[in-house]
Amino acid sequence: MSRDPQRAATQFFGGRVCLDFANTLDWRTSADPQELIPDYAAFLGWCGRRRTLSPQAITALELIARKKPDAAAAAQAELLSLRAEIWSICDALRRSERTDLAVVNALLAQAPPQPPLVRTGGSYLHNLSGKTLSEPLWPILWSLTAVLTSADASRIGCCQANGCGWFYVDESPNRTRLWCSSEVCGNRERARRAYAKRRKKVAGKGG
Ligand SMILES: [Zn+2]
Repeated sequence: MSRDPQRAATQFFGGRVCLDFANTLDWRTSADPQELIPDYAAFLGWCGRRRTLSPQAITALELIARKKPDAAAAAQAELLSLRAEIWSICDALRRSERTDLAVVNALLAQAPPQPPLVRTGGSYLHNLSGKTLSEPLWPILWSLTAVLTSADASRIGCCQANGCGWFYVDESPNRTRLWCSSEVCGNRERARRAYAKRRKKVAGKGG
């Protein structure tokens, strides 16, 4: 199985912030998942690349996290539990099962009002101040509520490549998307299946 730490660091195949956040555990359904946001600082790096926070908010949060490592670790634990929650919600959605919204609703009860939007570098983001370490969680939660309250909820897919486990919104007209990325997982999986087929043929000939 190929391991490419750049894959999730720079490629966002989920199509929605909450799904790209869910995809920060690489090879999620394999025996050896790879954590792409091992700590709060790494998570802030992800927020910058995914453009969920302004550079100013990220700089402010980096300073707070350095001063309060225990609080940063607690915020990180809360983020990872939200991520696990998104996995189970997405799995329920793609199986057309009922989702358990208890955790999401408890978080929504604590969420601040949505701040004004700002346009930075050609994209829009929530203008959060970067004052509290839990702040970066909110754009992810708001993205999740947008998915759940829209047609996206019926279009959640999970990559069919062995061990990948990445989620996406299947926006293909006939809902036939199989891979997080045709170029990455699709190519690898097609090669793997062709190889397995050839091996089977050779083994068959050998008797
Ligand atoms: Zn994949």
